[in-house]
Amino acid sequence: MRNPNADENDLQMSDFWCDYCRRPWTEDLPIVEGHQGSLVCGKCLTLAYRDVVLDELPTPAYEGPDPHGPKCTMCLEHREDLMWRSPAYDDAWICKRCIRQASTALAKDKDIAWEKPV
Ligand SMILES: [Zn+2]
Ligand SMILES: [Zn+2]
Repeated sequence: MRNPNADENDLQMSDFWCDYCRRPWTEDLPIVEGHQGSLVCGKCLTLAYRDVVLDELPTPAYEGPDPHGPKCTMCLEHREDLMWRSPAYDDAWICKRCIRQASTALAKDKDIAWEKPV
């Protein structure tokens, strides 16, 4: 997500925030982009990967207004996959497929010291 107070004509790295923890993007905090400007940071990805890919924790109960259940913030789809919900922001969800894709992208990037949890 974008810092809502950002100057659109002078965007800084720190105006790009992780949708799941709202930390700003920095040199030390890698970020992966989803659809429509959604972003997930390396810290959240580590948590999500552990919970969903490694531990296969069940999708948390959804209490929002959408009759189809939660929508993944990254791919904007309703997925049958397991989903992870941000512990801090109830409306930020990421599906297993997006967790895998983002993790693979980060792990492959040689400039970024991020590894999939094991
Ligand atoms: Zn984050
Ligand atoms: Zn997704």
